[in-house]
Amino acid sequence: MTAPRDTAIDIALLDAEGVRPQVAAAGAAIAPAPDARTNIFDLDRTGLEDFFEQKLGEKRYRAHQVMKWIHHRYVTDFDQMTDLGKALRAKLHEHAVVRAPEVLLEKPSADGTIKWLIGMDPKNAIEAVYIPDKGRGTLCVSSQVGCALNCSFCSTATQGFNRNLTTSEVIGQVWVAARQLGNLPHQRRRLTNVVMMGMGEPLMNFDNVVRAMNIMRDDLGYGLANKRVTLSTSGLVPQIDRLGEVCDVSLAVSLHAPVDELRTELVPLNRKYPIEMLMEACVRYALRKKGASVTFEYTLMKGVNDQPQHARELARLMRRFDNAVQMKDAAKVNLIPFNPFPGTRYERSPEEDIRAFQKLLQEARVLTTVRRTRGDDIDAACGQLKGQVMDRTRRQSEFRKRLAAGGGT
Ligand code: SAH
Repeated sequence: MTAPRDTAIDIALLDAEGVRPQVAAAGAAIAPAPDARTNIFDLDRTGLEDFFEQKLGEKRYRAHQVMKWIHHRYVTDFDQMTDLGKALRAKLHEHAVVRAPEVLLEKPSADGTIKWLIGMDPKNAIEAVYIPDKGRGTLCVSSQVGCALNCSFCSTATQGFNRNLTTSEVIGQVWVAARQLGNLPHQRRRLTNVVMMGMGEPLMNFDNVVRAMNIMRDDLGYGLANKRVTLSTSGLVPQIDRLGEVCDVSLAVSLHAPVDELRTELVPLNRKYPIEMLMEACVRYALRKKGASVTFEYTLMKGVNDQPQHARELARLMRRFDNAVQMKDAAKVNLIPFNPFPGTRYERSPEEDIRAFQKLLQEARVLTTVRRTRGDDIDAACGQLKGQVMDRTRRQSEFRKRLAAGGGT
C-alpha cells in the first residue's frame, strides 16, 4: 500500500501549526455575522466567573446559578432564570447569549444508539453519537469539522478539513444530547461517559476541547468523574504532555500498528511522532496520574494488521509500557473491528482472526477488550462519522474523483 497522495497537505498543516490561523480565516469567511455578545456556552466555570465579575461587575456566584440553569435544566432564556434579578437579566441580554448548535437530524438505530447531525454554521455540520449500554450511556463527541489528519482507514478523513469547533460547539453536543435524553446530572443520569472520539483530532483543538471537558467534569456542568471523560488522540506528542499538565481525563491512543512502517501507512502522523516517541509520552502521562491506565485503540483490518506477528509485537510493546510505569494492566488494548464505508480499500477482519488476536494478547497477559460495533445501521460506528464538511483541503474532491473512477482510499 502506498501512502495517500495528499498526505503532504496534512503534514504541511501540522508543521506550520497552521490549523489555528487558517481556521480563524475560514470562520470569518463563512460564519454568520459575528455577534459581539459573549456566548455563555464558550465559558467554563472560571471563565464565566471572570465574565460576571469583570464584564458585568457582578458577584462570581452568579455564574454558578447560570451554569445550573443551562446544564442542569436546559434553560437558555435569561428571562426564565428566575433567581436572577431583573436588572441582571437586562445586563445579560445586553452582553451575552446562550446559543446552542442546531440539531438538523436525529437518527435512532435499532440497537438504541442515537446519532445527531448538528449544524455548526450554514455550511458545516458534525455528528455526535449516543451509545447506551448496561448501566451506562456514552456520548461520542466531535472536536473539528472534518479532520486535518489523513488516517487511511477513516471515513472522516475523506471529508477533508474545515475548522476547529468552538468550546460552545463542543459542549453544545453534550447539551443537545443530554436535553434530548432527559438527563438530570445529579438525579437521573442518562449520560454517564463522554468520549472525544467523534470527528476530528481533539488535541489539534486543544484549548476549546479542554474548556469543554472542564464543563463536562464540573458539578455545575455534567458532573462526570475524570475517568469517565476520555480523550482519544492519533498521537500528537507535545499536546499529550500539555494535556497531562492541565487536566486529568482518561487517555486513549489510536495505535493501530505495533511497528512504524505499518503505522505510518495507517496514521501518517506517525512520520512526525513515531511509536517510540508516542509511547514515551504515554508513559509520562500515566506516571503523572498515579494509577492511571492508557487505552490503546487498535482497529483490526483484514490482512493488514491482524496477523499473529502483529499481536505478538503489540504484546511486547504493551508489556514494556506496564514495566515503564511499574503497574500491572497500565496498558489496555481496545480492539475495534474495522467499520467499512463506501470507497474504502480495507475490510473487517474475520471474527475468528479477531478472537485469535485477542487470545494471543491475553496469553501475553495484556488486558484486551473488543469494542462491540454499535449503530452501524445508521453509519454511527467508529470511523463512519461524516457530517457535512466544506472542505478547505483538496481531499474531499480527490476522494470523490477516485470513488467515481472506481477506486477508493
Ligand atoms: N482523531 C482521534 C479521535 C477519533 S476516535 C483519534 O484518532 O484517536 C475514533 C477511533 O476510531 C480512532 O481510534 C480511530 O482510529 C478509529 N477509527 C477510525 N476509522 C475507523 C473505522 N473505519 N473503523 C474502525 N475504527 C476506526
